[in-house]
Amino acid sequence: MAGIGIVGAGISGLTLALRLQQLGVATTLYCENDADTVRKGRLPATVARMGHTQDRERELGSAHYRDPGCLMSRARLSIKGEPPLEFTANVAQPFHAVDLRLLLPAFMDDYAARGGEIVVSGTAPDAAQVDRWSARHELVVVAAGRRSVTELFPRDAGRSPYDRPQRLLAAGLYRGLELGTLFSYNISGGAGEFFCAPMMTREGIVSALLVEAIPGGPLEPVTRAPWNEVGATLLGLLREHAPRLAEVADPAAFELLGPDDLLQGAVTPTVRRPVAELPSGRVALAVGDAWIVNDPITGQGANLGSRCAWIAAEAIAAGGPYDAAFAAAAAERMWEAGRPVTDWTNAFLQPPPEHVVKLLVAAAGRQDVADLVLSLFSDPPYAWRLLSSPEEIARIVDGGGQPLYDRD
Ligand SMILES: Cc1cc2nc3c(=O)[nH]c(=O)nc-3n(C[C@H](O)[C@H](O)[C@H](O)COP(=O)(O)OP(=O)(O)OC[C@H]3O[C@@H](n4cnc5c(N)ncnc54)[C@H](O)[C@@H]3O)c2cc1C
Repeated sequence: MAGIGIVGAGISGLTLALRLQQLGVATTLYCENDADTVRKGRLPATVARMGHTQDRERELGSAHYRDPGCLMSRARLSIKGEPPLEFTANVAQPFHAVDLRLLLPAFMDDYAARGGEIVVSGTAPDAAQVDRWSARHELVVVAAGRRSVTELFPRDAGRSPYDRPQRLLAAGLYRGLELGTLFSYNISGGAGEFFCAPMMTREGIVSALLVEAIPGGPLEPVTRAPWNEVGATLLGLLREHAPRLAEVADPAAFELLGPDDLLQGAVTPTVRRPVAELPSGRVALAVGDAWIVNDPITGQGANLGSRCAWIAAEAIAAGGPYDAAFAAAAAERMWEAGRPVTDWTNAFLQPPPEHVVKLLVAAAGRQDVADLVLSLFSDPPYAWRLLSSPEEIARIVDGGGQPLYDRD
């Protein structure tokens, strides 16, 4: 019996593998691709990791690519309008942006160098393959991402308010856009959002830019443009919808790094049932995007995957038997972390309610409120407690009260 089987080597599977290894639990990591193939592959996402995720990586002894040029301690929110609404804040713990094609192979190398067993399948296995692997293990954790073995984990309609994508996405790495170490969040009402961050990539530090286009709106063309037309299409849209980004784009140099540095598509926000009983008699537990896929609009998926992997590792290390009751209890603990992220992100896909608009207006005039608002991305449980409470926002905004920093 070879301990715990982990299927998938994204941030969720690797955080789990590294943590269990650190806690002395035997694991086998089943990967679709080896580290070199991941390094040479297509851009999978444009991920900014928050302080709590970086803390876990530090504790694992796997803090990589800490170049100050990709650590953002300032963030700016700009909302297009007449007049525009804008504020810049200091974030307590810098955001960190590293191309996953660098970060994930570094984690794989750490795991292998510390004696971890990696099995490369070369293909994305189906439920039958997971079942066969499960015969070798006491428990299988499926961390194989949003295109995972979904037949094992059906959609949980009660936790999934949407049945279709709420945004169309175009994420890319660009030359000719210079923001320094600022994280820039731009909203164009009715059109969508633009997020821009300096990211460590295979070509050094460049700008990662994610466009979130409301379906049928004016940003949609960039989510469908051929890669060699994306730069020109996007430049026109930035001028119209994100003028603060257009200001720092050099029209002569602005372009995608290359065809593999673009991701276009959409996700349907979905929470799945996290526990499957396999024909082998073993149990499979889903973590990360295999369990919860949120729209990237709040930048939380990788951060949540890392947090849930940590929770799962603590539960596993405490001991079995790893039966359905164990998996259900572990999933409940993970849902305490997953629920606020999911509720907040799903709410963010709709126009903001009046009390949130009041908070943003207050942030434009008060630095303490601006710092609070942009630090919410680092603390989703607090973010959702605040943003779902008109009373607490009124206390801060109308009463001039100090924000409560009762963070988790
Ligand atoms: C454009 C974009 C921007 C984003 N920005 C942010 C952000 O700023 N911050 C943030 O926190 N999150 C962000 N996210 C979300 C984040 O990328 C995901 O939530 C996170 O990467 C999911 O990690 P995971 O390990 O659960 O799954 P994945 O990263 O999908 O990893 C799954 C792994 O399993 C492998 N695999 C797939 N199927 C199988 C199989 N059947 N068997 C074995 N292996 C398999 C895959 O090859 C992959 O390596 C963004 C997402 C997108 C699309």
